Amino acid sequence: MLLCCAPLREWTLLSVAEALQKLLNSVQPVSAVETIGASEALGRILAEDVKAPLSLPPFDNSAMDGYAVRFDGPVFAHPPPYRLRVLGTSAAGHPWRGRIEDGAVRIFTGAAMPQGADTIVLQEDAVREGDTVEFADRPEAHRHVRSVGNDVQAGERILTRGTRLRAFEVGWISACGLHQVEVFGRPRIGMFATGDELREPGSRLAYGQIYESNRLTLKSLASELPVQINDLGILPDERSLLAHALAQAARANDMLITSGGVSVGASDHVRDVVSELGEIDFWRVAIKPGKPFASGRIGQCMFMGLPGNPASAVVTFLLFVAPALLQLGGGRPESPLEVGARLEAPVKPPRGRMEYQRGRYARVGEQLWVEPTGSQDSNRIGSFRDANCLVRLMPGKAQLKRGSNVRILPFHGLLFGG
Ligand code: AMP
Ligand code: MG
Repeated sequence: MLLCCAPLREWTLLSVAEALQKLLNSVQPVSAVETIGASEALGRILAEDVKAPLSLPPFDNSAMDGYAVRFDGPVFAHPPPYRLRVLGTSAAGHPWRGRIEDGAVRIFTGAAMPQGADTIVLQEDAVREGDTVEFADRPEAHRHVRSVGNDVQAGERILTRGTRLRAFEVGWISACGLHQVEVFGRPRIGMFATGDELREPGSRLAYGQIYESNRLTLKSLASELPVQINDLGILPDERSLLAHALAQAARANDMLITSGGVSVGASDHVRDVVSELGEIDFWRVAIKPGKPFASGRIGQCMFMGLPGNPASAVVTFLLFVAPALLQLGGGRPESPLEVGARLEAPVKPPRGRMEYQRGRYARVGEQLWVEPTGSQDSNRIGSFRDANCLVRLMPGKAQLKRGSNVRILPFHGLLFGG
């Protein structure tokens, strides 16, 4: 068959779910690992399962300030009141080294239980006189004792490979006495803006030019993820220059993210250039804004072609690129938090494509209400002002009235999961 006569490839318009699935199926996590200090590990992704080297707490200790006694001993076989000799003191970091049979030991929160003791009597329930202490009532057996391993057992797997470390996990690692962890290396992300009309902020604009803003927005969003960003500047709408720059960048990065030039205009060359250098896996998603989103690869390097309109670039970054970046870095992307809310104002539903409007939700009593942030034209980066979520609108015909139920995706969940 003559190649020149081969039909142009038809691209199926994928649904948002299909596009995400296809994308995640094609992401090969980076394999490099590094050992870093736990204090540098926030936000990084574990490359190993972490086992507790010791139990937490490591010894039986008191949960309250009071007196340690031996409930199972002879003293409490009789009815109250009880008068016991105070044998010593056990404070946090300063254990009492003797053994209790029928006396009591003054004890404070976090202090080791003396040998033989099995119960703490609260200091509020005790009357101290010199070296004796009196309890008017029978203590509750085995109360207020934190037993060894009640939090974590020695050898227990506390964290699994692929976990994105939050404050809680780094704290837990420290509680186990570990000061280093093995994490995945941060994938290298090359980022370009494309477009002849784009100029750097700070320079003078000629008529017809605009300031480039996607790079800074996208870099700032990506900085919430464990990646290394290489800012590669602005490329013109010129095939050979695009091809040269993308080919070179693909050799030095694990993923390239471009914005602009993936639609159907005469200056939109990015997709063709990537097809020539590598391959496009899919192009176009039934989403508003963001329909021309393209994904593919150049050699080993993944390619994410975001549309140039600022709202389209951000929405496709949040829905597709952020989970892909997390998986590329060895993490396990989860479905982002999606909750129900009622519309503050009537909204016209989209035709044919799932729409993600920018909105602001707030809780009023027990109910979440959401208000779209003004005009949703995809050029309006201003539609993100005050926004804290995406409002997902299913295609339909009937106007959505005030009070209608919609689904919202808080930005926090889109970037941090959960
Ligand atoms: P494109 O996807 O290249 O057709 O661009 C769509 C629209 O987004 C055009 O109005 C561009 O001027 C604008 N645009 C493209 N890239 C950027 C950028 N990096 N910053 C701001 N606006 C952009
Ligand atoms: Mg363009």
